[in-house]
Amino acid sequence: MKIYNTQTRQKEEFKPVEPGKVKLYACGPTVYNYFHIGNARTFMFFDVVRRYLEYAGYEVTFVQNITDIDDKIINQSITENVPASDVAERYTKAFFEDTAKLGLRPTTYAPKATEYIGKMIGFIRELEKNGFAYEADGDVYFSVDKLDNYGSLSGKNIDDQMVGARIQENKQKKNPLDFTLWKRSKPGEPTWNSPWGEGRPGWHTECVVMSRDLLGETFDIHGGAIDLVFPHHENEQAQAYAQNGKPLANYWMHGGFLNMSGEKMSKSLGNFFTTRDVLEKFDPEVVRLFFLSKHYRSPIDYSPELLEESKSGVANFYDALEFIDFLKIQNPGGKFGKYAQKYYDEFKEAMDDDFNTAKAIAILFELTRKIKSLEIPSDIRNEYAHALVEIGSVLGFFSDLEKKLAKDDLSGKLVEMMIEYRVLFKKEKNYTMADRIRNDLADIGIELLDTKDGTIWKSKRK
Ligand code: AMP
Ligand code: ZN
Repeated sequence: MKIYNTQTRQKEEFKPVEPGKVKLYACGPTVYNYFHIGNARTFMFFDVVRRYLEYAGYEVTFVQNITDIDDKIINQSITENVPASDVAERYTKAFFEDTAKLGLRPTTYAPKATEYIGKMIGFIRELEKNGFAYEADGDVYFSVDKLDNYGSLSGKNIDDQMVGARIQENKQKKNPLDFTLWKRSKPGEPTWNSPWGEGRPGWHTECVVMSRDLLGETFDIHGGAIDLVFPHHENEQAQAYAQNGKPLANYWMHGGFLNMSGEKMSKSLGNFFTTRDVLEKFDPEVVRLFFLSKHYRSPIDYSPELLEESKSGVANFYDALEFIDFLKIQNPGGKFGKYAQKYYDEFKEAMDDDFNTAKAIAILFELTRKIKSLEIPSDIRNEYAHALVEIGSVLGFFSDLEKKLAKDDLSGKLVEMMIEYRVLFKKEKNYTMADRIRNDLADIGIELLDTKDGTIWKSKRK
């Protein structure tokens, strides 16, 4: 399996630290508002990474943190005149509700920054002891000049960065690129006691401490969208090097943005739709198809028209499955090899090549076409249907298949009984009764289709 590694700017063969196991960390939300559909793109991508790694046989530990202490949360609490913890709790709850609605599987761990303050203080003290941190008036900074390979993840030329950073120069900093490990609190702000006085940890320290605590000192994959490469991930990794001389993660994965008319969707620009609002209009699987149809590193422009297209795409999957007696052929554990094998192989090849979900989705469409080709014998179409559901499930589709396919047990049996009667009437050349059965079934939304293997049926979805 190959993964594009931001660190080396190339696709690399994936070798986990521990054979058969993957430790994955994706930066989670800062909980000061409902998360937008751009954030959802990144969250959903890592949900798919996790699902695929598991399908590929790895045991995955997946951590996504909750940043529940941050300037933005404090500002929101001032605006609303409520405690910062109220804001954080409200939007943490909303985050879990909305990710569940989106069809994201719960992560293995979802650590909150505020539960790790003691460990963060201990970590900053170690950096201080190693000579990488200095205190100035209750704030503690990381000294980037002390670290030889600072800038190696982002490939940024640090001198160029300095020019930009100098504009907002902070007189306390030795180098304008030095970043905050611990921030002195102002009166009324949430605060924790520390060797440097009352304050709170910096964002970059939060993630490095939580990820290493749960996944080990050097873990496999660390991810987010590309906005996090610099400074967030650069600074996380800098702290890890400063503490033990080792990289924080072996593979750094960064997704492209969801844009609005070419510009990054972001809360600060105000050009966003919350995931909540989008899910009012579009089914979670439609959003999933919309995102996964593009490679994760390519930008996507938010487009209601393309979402409408994805809606037809998803409807098409179910439409194909309606014509298959899928519930009957479900065969847990046993794969139907022969005909569908090619598609399983192509799927694996696409996903093993840096998670090419766009190719994987094309395979789902191809299978859908085959399932609907009635000239193909039904046992082969059943096999394709099985592949569609199995591959689709790895990408996070079809989690509610039985509910969505209206063929529940009893009504299914009754429809099949009517089909048998129709066959008998036709044998007796009683076409009046045969047509009546067809028409009466149509009236209740059951459509019959005569194929050379016999009659199949589907019910119009509600
Ligand atoms: P935040 O809550 O801003 O820290 O972002 C949470 C996650 O969403 C991070 O991984 C960000 O990189 C990612 N993200 C933010 N904006 C976008 C966007 N427009 N498109 C895709 N991912 C984004
Ligand atoms: Zn982070």
